[in-house]
Amino acid sequence: MALIQIAEPGESTTAHQHKLAVGIDLGTTNSLVATVRSGEVSTLPDSSGQHLLPSVVHYAENAIHVGSEAQSYSVTDPLNTVVSVKRFMGRGIEDLAVEETHYSYEFSETNSVIPRIKTRAGDLSAVEISAEILKALKTRALETLGDEINGAVITVPAYFDDAQRQATKDAAKLADIKVLRLLNEPTAAAVAYGLDSGNQGVIAVFDLGGGTFDISILRLNNGVFEVLATGGDSSLGGDDFDYVIAQWMIEQAGMDDMGDPASKRLIMQQARAAKEALAGAESTGVSLDLGDIHWQGTLDREILKALIMPLIKKTLMSCRRALRDADIEKNNIDEVVMVGGSTRTLAVREMVAEFFECEPLTSIDPDKVVATGAALQADVLVGNKPDDEMLLLDVIPLSLGIETMGGLVEKIIHRNTGIPVAKAQDFTTYKDGQTAMAVHVLQGERELVADSRSLARFELRGIPPQVAGAARIRVTFQVDADGLLIVSAREENSGVEASIDVKPSYGLSDSEVETMLRESMEHAEDDMHSRSLREQQVEADRVLEALDSALAVDGEQLLSDQERSEIMDVRQILVEVKSDTDKEKIKQTIERLEKACENYVARRMNSNIKSAMQGHSIEEYASDERSEAEES
Ligand code: ADP
Ligand code: MG
Repeated sequence: MALIQIAEPGESTTAHQHKLAVGIDLGTTNSLVATVRSGEVSTLPDSSGQHLLPSVVHYAENAIHVGSEAQSYSVTDPLNTVVSVKRFMGRGIEDLAVEETHYSYEFSETNSVIPRIKTRAGDLSAVEISAEILKALKTRALETLGDEINGAVITVPAYFDDAQRQATKDAAKLADIKVLRLLNEPTAAAVAYGLDSGNQGVIAVFDLGGGTFDISILRLNNGVFEVLATGGDSSLGGDDFDYVIAQWMIEQAGMDDMGDPASKRLIMQQARAAKEALAGAESTGVSLDLGDIHWQGTLDREILKALIMPLIKKTLMSCRRALRDADIEKNNIDEVVMVGGSTRTLAVREMVAEFFECEPLTSIDPDKVVATGAALQADVLVGNKPDDEMLLLDVIPLSLGIETMGGLVEKIIHRNTGIPVAKAQDFTTYKDGQTAMAVHVLQGERELVADSRSLARFELRGIPPQVAGAARIRVTFQVDADGLLIVSAREENSGVEASIDVKPSYGLSDSEVETMLRESMEHAEDDMHSRSLREQQVEADRVLEALDSALAVDGEQLLSDQERSEIMDVRQILVEVKSDTDKEKIKQTIERLEKACENYVARRMNSNIKSAMQGHSIEEYASDERSEAEES
């Protein structure tokens, strides 16, 4: 994989014109802002010394509260207090169904594809709510640094798709923050650690926060990080730990469910406090005081471990897959970096250590490590370190491709390819005189369009009419450093082109990504079969198409009635057989038809040569030979 430099040399200013840039960890649970001052990187605290800003927004009558102030309203005014809004960034209404049950605020019933949360300030999108968090961090940075900020690097989970990344950029725009670059969170963590070590090795970054899990396999080489593979689950984190603990509590207390939003919040908060206490204690007291229910109990590390075991196992399954993608054996991992508040839970550390068979690194505060790396990266991007050699590569999580004849997917960029990347592939027309081509952009690992996710469609029009197979259409996929995709198509002979920025209206949840990957493995064999069947069917169509157009041109002149009816008989058999599921039969019939046409083809060739010598273009006649070159 080629390395791509992201800091342009010569873009820098002189040393004393240091530009201020910040790194922002826009977390599901907590957000932070960090910066580099006098060569030192640090996260910025608020006026009361708190570095972590809880990612909570409360809409009061005449004010908007963000952070711990907002958090205090989550029990008294849960309907107007939005937590974990990151989970809805770039998501569609359809993605909500399952996740909604975790939250105590409500979604408005609109027809729009973007979900809106009902608050007293109106129905708000995840982008608008996230912008409030970013504004609060920006204000903190301005107050602490007392100077203009030239830009920010904002981190996102590695699994964020186009729509989710775009939503993050939109939120920054609303907050009036110039985004230098979006950076994957685990990559940022590696930047923070990489500067400490600077030696060679393969590193696994295990990031378990409140709402997301990311695993990245990185290779560190002379201060250069290469991301070999990423994996994870953007719907798994400490929130889910809280949820299973809360379920255990209500079960122990003999309750049926968590009740109204306020008591639900309260139980979740108790569960969370108990879990966090267990990072430093063997056991802790838990209690519920709700209406008639007065329950007291004890939660210890053993029960906690049993409760969250299935969730930790899920993270380890993602680790196994990422190792496979990176083509790395467990014993080739030199270091495991722990990131995210949930890695403070002992059971997580134990099971991760057991899985990787080594002691994970925890020396940098797991809450601050992402913001720290982002700040270091921002400092480079804004031009403060002209000679910095730090190169970063991210990868795309799912393959990208286009639809070809017969409902098949042609992959243009394979999953886990490093970004930024541009790849092109040539296609051609299928029919004589075809002047337009539909480009259907797809995501996923499966072979058939029906099993893939549709990202966008556009048409290339104005292709000059030519025989089938003569046009050369170059389709280019470009994924920029932020992971955003642009697809363009250009007919090389005429220069007509069309392109599309792929900004789907909503994204794909990671459970869907996971499902798609799992299905692609389960169905690999079926898919190979359906693929080769479809290929034969497409081939049959192509042969029929070519034959019909040839017959229309010179069938009468070059063939006797007898010959023509023989060909037509085999043609008819192929028409019937091609919808068969027996690909061998289709193949044999195609061969039979080709055999029946042998003399005809030879005669056409001679006649073409003759007419070419008489000054006619060979193109007019050569459609069947020509279509050999077809690549659809
Ligand atoms: P995110 O990246 O999703 O914003 P963080 O990395 O800030 O999340 O992690 C937040 C999660 O860490 C929460 O679920 C919180 O309960 C958990 N957490 C924080 N401190 C502890 C602790 N001492 N023990 C266990 N979990 C903790
Ligand atoms: Mg995080």
